[in-house]
Amino acid sequence: MIYDVCVIGGGPAGIFSAFYSASRKMNTVLIEGNHELGGRLNLFLNYEIYDIPGQFGVLARDFKQALIEQLKVSKANMLLGEIVEEIENIDELFYVTTTKQTILAKTIIAATGNGFNEVKRIEHAHTSGKIQYDPPAFQQYDGPIAVIGHTPMAADWAIQLMGYGNAVTLYTDKELNLQPILMDGLANNNIPIYKFSDFNDWAYEAVFCHIGSKKRTIEFNGRIAQRDNGLTNCRGYFVAGDARYEQGKLKLIHGATHDAMQAVNAAFQYLHEGANYQPIVSTHDPIFKEWIK
Ligand SMILES: Cc1cc2nc3c(=O)[nH]c(=O)nc-3n(C[C@H](O)[C@H](O)[C@H](O)COP(=O)(O)OP(=O)(O)OC[C@H]3O[C@@H](n4cnc5c(N)ncnc54)[C@H](O)[C@@H]3O)c2cc1C
Repeated sequence: MIYDVCVIGGGPAGIFSAFYSASRKMNTVLIEGNHELGGRLNLFLNYEIYDIPGQFGVLARDFKQALIEQLKVSKANMLLGEIVEEIENIDELFYVTTTKQTILAKTIIAATGNGFNEVKRIEHAHTSGKIQYDPPAFQQYDGPIAVIGHTPMAADWAIQLMGYGNAVTLYTDKELNLQPILMDGLANNNIPIYKFSDFNDWAYEAVFCHIGSKKRTIEFNGRIAQRDNGLTNCRGYFVAGDARYEQGKLKLIHGATHDAMQAVNAAFQYLHEGANYQPIVSTHDPIFKEWIK
């Protein structure tokens, strides 16, 4: 089977690309390296988002779920837990090799964000498996809490958990060099900061760790250079979301979904030369009503 569109990455840009691509009747597959969709939203599931139009204060968890529900209606194909390792472009066809198989597609939409992120885990004599790498539930716990990490996320977790009446200790071996709002938050809440070498997990009810992530890159037989509007130097290869770079670009969800539509439209133009550049608006497009029948 040869797909019209292969979307790589299942964050907001990739999810919406796959949905919108299916709405343009292109045979679409979405590949995500992790076992769940959501991309970076998974890092802050319990946080409210205020800058998405019409969604003031939506929880990242709920926004992610809404994106997934929308995608499911489209019936685009989805492959989870497959990391794209290599792409070859031969005779205008893309051979996309994942950790499990090779997929053929006429176009690529790379919505890889900042790259496939593998959570960095800690190897330490004083940890007995209590460490959690997922974002904490912000609530009051039955005993003291430890947060491990030097990242803005770790500092923010510590401050927020303190706000729920928890006794929180932050452990880090790196010097903290964070935004003033986070440094002030740690200081104003009198959050004790110790060296990680002093850490013993038995002392804590729950331990949350955020020390960053390892990245993987995709090999390509050529060089992908980005141009304006998500276009690249390779015909049929488009970029959307945080992966799309241009001067002054904001790396935010709203822009990522806008990029998604642009990339899908560019893929459609590429596959259907001479097609009207302006797609039909959704209120006039019967496919959406067919999907929800
Ligand atoms: C703590 C935090 C708070 C934020 N707050 C806000 C906010 O308030 N408002 C806002 O608008 N934005 C916010 N953002 C930014 C927002 O999360 C990003 O702009 C958005 O997630 C970008 O979407 P994306 O789909 O381009 O990339 P991502 O969400 O990064 O998704 C990329 C996906 O591609 C996958 N991938 C990458 N490489 C491969 C590969 N080789 N094979 C398979 N899969 C691959 C990754 O696993 C990932 O799932 C925040 C980000 C963080 C970290």
